[in-house]
Amino acid sequence: MGLEELEKYAKEYNIPIMQKEGIDFMLEYIKKNNILTILEIGSAIGYSAIRMALLNPNIKIVTVERDIERYNEAVKNIKKFNLESQITIYNCDAFDLNLDEKFDFIFIDAAKAQYIKFFEKFKINLKDNGTILSDNLNFHGLTHTKEKIESRNVRQLVRKINNYIEFLKTNQEFITQFYDCGDGIAISKKKMK
Ligand code: SAH
Ligand code: MG
Repeated sequence: MGLEELEKYAKEYNIPIMQKEGIDFMLEYIKKNNILTILEIGSAIGYSAIRMALLNPNIKIVTVERDIERYNEAVKNIKKFNLESQITIYNCDAFDLNLDEKFDFIFIDAAKAQYIKFFEKFKINLKDNGTILSDNLNFHGLTHTKEKIESRNVRQLVRKINNYIEFLKTNQEFITQFYDCGDGIAISKKKMK
């Protein structure tokens, strides 16, 4: 059982795991900044959590997934990779997850329409010098398109992602850099007081 099998499974069952360019960028960032504690919102089948945990046996990850099938698959995968001591996974809605711990790194990769709410909820779980990474801000290129998007649902989602980008750009507490990498990544850090 290798990573390729997880990638194949994700493709087959249409599970939106982070793609190569984005994941490579994120793993590089984690290594470079000696990140050891990670909170992930949106585990899916555990792929990104496993990739992060494999970087270094001292890395500890807490991750949450609300979908029971994906959660079960993630639990299975974490076991197969022998990473139970490094990855703690919860099966609930992230909005019902209340943690006291503070993390070096928070990875927001769940429902795109809720990004502002995830950010506001979990920023208290970030260490002062920590980083929040948000994925999928390009939303397959749609957040920058000038053309009219036919689907009403997609249009609404694009508006919400653009609201989140605006929220980050104008945030008083955090300074954000945007990377046109993978499906669009933002790196937010607390401003120094
Ligand atoms: N980080 C994963 C991919 C996550 S896909 C990887 O790269 O491997 C996004 C996941 O977030 C989906 O499985 C979805 O069920 C989950 N999700 C969406 N909203 C959520 C919420 N409010 N609470 C918990 N999980 C959520
Ligand atoms: Mg994603």
